[in-house]
Amino acid sequence: MDHLLPPDIVEAGHSFPAELAACGDLDALLRLKGAYVGREGSHAARLMELLKLAPKEQKRDLGAAINALKQQWEEGLKSRQFEIETKKKNRKALAASWDPSLPPPVPAQGALNPLNRLMDRLVEVFRPLGFHVEEGPEIETEAHNFDGLNIPEDHPAKASSDTFYLAAHPDLLLRTHTSPVQVRTLLRVAQDLGIRGGVRFLSPGRVYRKDEIDPTHSPMFHQVEGMLVGHGIGMQHLKGTLEYALRALFGPHTEIRLRPSYFPFVEPGCEVDVSCPLCAARGCRVCKGSGWVEILGAGLIHPKVLEYAGIDPVEWSGWAFGMGVERMAMMLSQTPDLRLFFENDQRFLKAMGGLD
Ligand SMILES: [Zn+2]
Repeated sequence: MDHLLPPDIVEAGHSFPAELAACGDLDALLRLKGAYVGREGSHAARLMELLKLAPKEQKRDLGAAINALKQQWEEGLKSRQFEIETKKKNRKALAASWDPSLPPPVPAQGALNPLNRLMDRLVEVFRPLGFHVEEGPEIETEAHNFDGLNIPEDHPAKASSDTFYLAAHPDLLLRTHTSPVQVRTLLRVAQDLGIRGGVRFLSPGRVYRKDEIDPTHSPMFHQVEGMLVGHGIGMQHLKGTLEYALRALFGPHTEIRLRPSYFPFVEPGCEVDVSCPLCAARGCRVCKGSGWVEILGAGLIHPKVLEYAGIDPVEWSGWAFGMGVERMAMMLSQTPDLRLFFENDQRFLKAMGGLD
C-alpha cells in the first residue's frame, strides 16, 4: 500500500530504525518523536491530513497503511525510551556504588604447597633444639646413596628395578632417600671443620624410586631426615627428642612408642608410632582402630656409617630418623590420594588452607 503514501514519507519510514538507534539521549529521542508522531508538522500529522482529503474508495487502505506506520513508530520510540532510561539508571547506580576511597581488588595470591608447609613446620619444630637445615643434590653417587650408609651390595634397593640410574653415568642415580645428606654432612664436618661440638641437622627434600604412580605411590616424593651426633648419645635421647617434636606437631597429649625394626644404617633400628592424632587414640579409620599410626623410622647411627665418614664410633654416637612427608600430610588431612598434592588443583589447595 506504499503507493498510496507520499514518497518522502515512505523514505522516512525506511530510515526510521537507523534514526531511532542513533538517539543517544532523551532529548534526541523527543526530537525524533516530534518529527514522526508530533501533533503538528510531523509525518503522522501530514498523513492524517492526506487521509482526510483522500477519495472515499482509497480511505480504507490508506487508513490501514497509516495506522501500521504510526504503530511501528510509536512502539519503536517507546522501547528506545525504555532502553535509554534503563542505561541512565544503571549508570547512576554504578556511580553511587563506586567508592574511590576503597582499595583496588587484590588478585588471587599464590601460596606454598601443603607439603612444603609441612616440611617448614618440621624445621621450625627442631630449630629451637639447635638443628639447622642441610641440603644435598638430587643426583647422587652410588657411594653416597648406598655404600656410605652400610647398604650391602646385594640389597634389593640397589636393583635397577627400584632405582633410577643415569644411563650415561652408571655410578650416578636419583637419590632414593634423603640419607646421603647424612654421609655428605658427616664427611664435611669430619674432614673440613673437625666434628668438635657434634652435628645436628634436618634435611628435607625430594627423593625418587621406580614406583608406578597410584593413590599411595609416586616415583617422586618427599622425606625429612634428622640426625644428631654427640658424646654418649643413646636411645633415650632419640626417644626424648621425638617425643618433644611429635608433641609439638600433634599436640601435648601425644604418646609415642618404639617398635624394633631393621634399617642397614642404624643399630638398633625402630619404627616410631604416635597415638592417633585424629581420634585421640580412641580408634578410627586412619589408625585402623588401633589408636596408633606409624610415623617414621629411626635408630642409633650404625658405627660403620660413622667410620665411613672418618668419625671414631667409640668416641662419637648419634641417632637419625627419616619420615615420609606425603604420608604424614595424607594422614593429617585425611587425603586418600597423594597425587592431589602434586596436581595443583586450586580447589584442593584452597581446602588445604593454602590459598586466600
Ligand atoms: Zn585414629
